[in-house]
Amino acid sequence: MARRRQIYEGKAKVIFEGPEPGTLVQYFKDDATAFNNQKRGTITGKGVLNNRISEYLMTRIGEIGVPTHFVRRLNMREQLIKEVEIIPIEVVVRNVAAGSLSKRLGIEEGQSLPRSIIEYYYKSDELGDPMVGEEHITAFGWAAPQELDEMVAMSLRVNDFLSGLFFGVGIRLIDFKIEYGRHYTNEDMRIVLADEISPDSCRLWDLHTNEKMDKDRFRRDMGNVAEAYQEVARRLGILPESGPTDIKGPKVMQ
Ligand code: UDP
Repeated sequence: MARRRQIYEGKAKVIFEGPEPGTLVQYFKDDATAFNNQKRGTITGKGVLNNRISEYLMTRIGEIGVPTHFVRRLNMREQLIKEVEIIPIEVVVRNVAAGSLSKRLGIEEGQSLPRSIIEYYYKSDELGDPMVGEEHITAFGWAAPQELDEMVAMSLRVNDFLSGLFFGVGIRLIDFKIEYGRHYTNEDMRIVLADEISPDSCRLWDLHTNEKMDKDRFRRDMGNVAEAYQEVARRLGILPESGPTDIKGPKVMQ
């Protein structure tokens, strides 16, 4: 790690300079935060699992023609990605009421929504990622109207695809958060899916028992966080054959 220049350190990941211009290395940590940084913890093995799960999901999404920043996984905790200019908007897609939507609108968790709902949050730690509308995004120039249109179309495709993919392994995709970036090549610019897609950024419930298999286990002190992430990986068929060697055993520390 010391051999590379660190570009940025976030809550769950570190970004390093990549081996070639236009590339970066994304390193997945075991650190977890929630409630705008007020709750912090370490989930042993989480980074390894999220690296693998995000690799798998980004690859499958790329295969249906949605461009992503993902290039390839390098090792247990690192993946090579394309350098992009992150659009400062978190796009949340919801299929079932949960979390902040349930709280804000008084809709019981678990209630299916009449149709998929897209929300936007402005990425700002100081402001606690406030919810914003399309008007704010375009008026303040965070994204151009046609960029936003593209992000919405891609998000709905990703939602339909991931809903089916997870359904096939007995998991209900309740909601998720994705981010986009601008990828520049010569004179060209393309909006691509960026960041990660993992149980840190999705709500995933067992199809039959409704058991939570995502970061809500950490947010709500439910325990067995890494075990739940591992079960997601197992169902997707992507646990390394020899077992996750970097993982010392599921354990949550706070
Ligand atoms: N989410 C995320 N990062 C955030 C906020 C939300 O990945 O900073 C994800 C979260 O895991 C869930 C979805 O986005 O899958 C919707 O989250 P919600 O708005 O309900 O917020 P929360 O209840 O998690 O505060």
